[in-house]
Amino acid sequence: MGCRGPEVQILSSRPTLQLGRIQNIYQGSQILLTKNWTVLNICSPPNSIFFWEVCIDPDFAFDTVATMSIIKLLPICIFLPVLAYFFHPKFGCDPKGKRLERIKLSRNYKNDRFVNIQPFVVTQKRPVLKTLCKLIKRRTKCDVVIPSTKTDLGALDLSENVLVWFGHSSYFIQISQKRIIVDPVLSKVSSPIPCFPQAFQGSTVYKPNDIPHVDYVIITHDHWDHLDYRTITKLNFGKIICPLGVGAHLERFGIPEQNIIEMDWDECINIDDFKFYCLTTRHWSRRGSHQNKTLWASFLVEAPNSFKTFIGGDGGYGPHFSEIGRKFGEIDLAILENGQYNKNWTQNHMHPQEVARAAEELNAKTLLPVHYAKFSLSTHKWNEPVQRICDISRNRKYRLITPMIGEKVELMNKDQTFSNWW
Ligand SMILES: [Zn+2]
Ligand SMILES: [Zn+2]
Repeated sequence: MGCRGPEVQILSSRPTLQLGRIQNIYQGSQILLTKNWTVLNICSPPNSIFFWEVCIDPDFAFDTVATMSIIKLLPICIFLPVLAYFFHPKFGCDPKGKRLERIKLSRNYKNDRFVNIQPFVVTQKRPVLKTLCKLIKRRTKCDVVIPSTKTDLGALDLSENVLVWFGHSSYFIQISQKRIIVDPVLSKVSSPIPCFPQAFQGSTVYKPNDIPHVDYVIITHDHWDHLDYRTITKLNFGKIICPLGVGAHLERFGIPEQNIIEMDWDECINIDDFKFYCLTTRHWSRRGSHQNKTLWASFLVEAPNSFKTFIGGDGGYGPHFSEIGRKFGEIDLAILENGQYNKNWTQNHMHPQEVARAAEELNAKTLLPVHYAKFSLSTHKWNEPVQRICDISRNRKYRLITPMIGEKVELMNKDQTFSNWW
């Protein structure tokens, strides 16, 4: 036969047409393995195809079978865990059934997607890859420790009207003896990727078990830096208020349907003498594979003591701010995103000068800038947004407040001052 490789013993010289898989095992020959461990050694003379039945060294046969099994199983070993990962409840799900039927009635839903009143374009002045590389480089090199403190939320007297910021867009409000938490993300990561982007050191002083029972959770949209499975599923709360479609994610998280209140833009609900208005913003949504299947929103909460808080969520500048300002008159506190802006996406996040303009158009008495100091989702320095909004806010109609993470803000105290902690 002239075959090289392990010892082979020819059992029969009759040609056979048994079928099986052929694999190049060793130089100059091919091995065909059959179910009963018979090996057909193919050493074909030129221009002919003859299969010769042979017996092979069992150790070699075992190695061959094991190698083939590993090669066969390798894609399964990689594919199955990846597939299982994407079936994790944290990815939520698209709205269907009754939720979808309600969504279809919304004037903001067109061609199976939610739309903005004023559309935005992603300007792409810089290549996406270059921006991403710059972001990763900046974030991995950053060894900043964010200054923070820790107010004991459970120990607060219920008669106090206070706000505590947890960094980025998560905060706790206690007003008129009710507790509200907004976009709670107390995890160290704000994406589906297990280790990126990591929260800055010092910004994760609060864990879900530091939060006492809250009456209302408000979720502005389904992006990972606003809706966090690990936090939500550990919180103890009454009702969760969210824009249309986000309830499908929450149900997938395991939250009972009766605890979820979905709202469309310009709707208002009254609970416990609180008024919750769901309002416009200029943004987008995506949790799993589909974009804009759920709505994004801002909220205005009017407490029984008439204190009005505007919860901006994420969103670019637009005429909706002046419309909201006209509708609600003076707003006691406007909490607006101020961070993660970029030249590539100028219309779905605000730059600090737009934040100042929006606060004035909202008729805000006080502005609290958020969406910074925890997750780095753009290429600017972590403290640039707060430095810029401080510079821009001199001689404005509103009062700027800049608490550090965990610091108690006394909502009724107009004279409270804050240090330049950044
Ligand atoms: Zn967002
Ligand atoms: Zn965000």
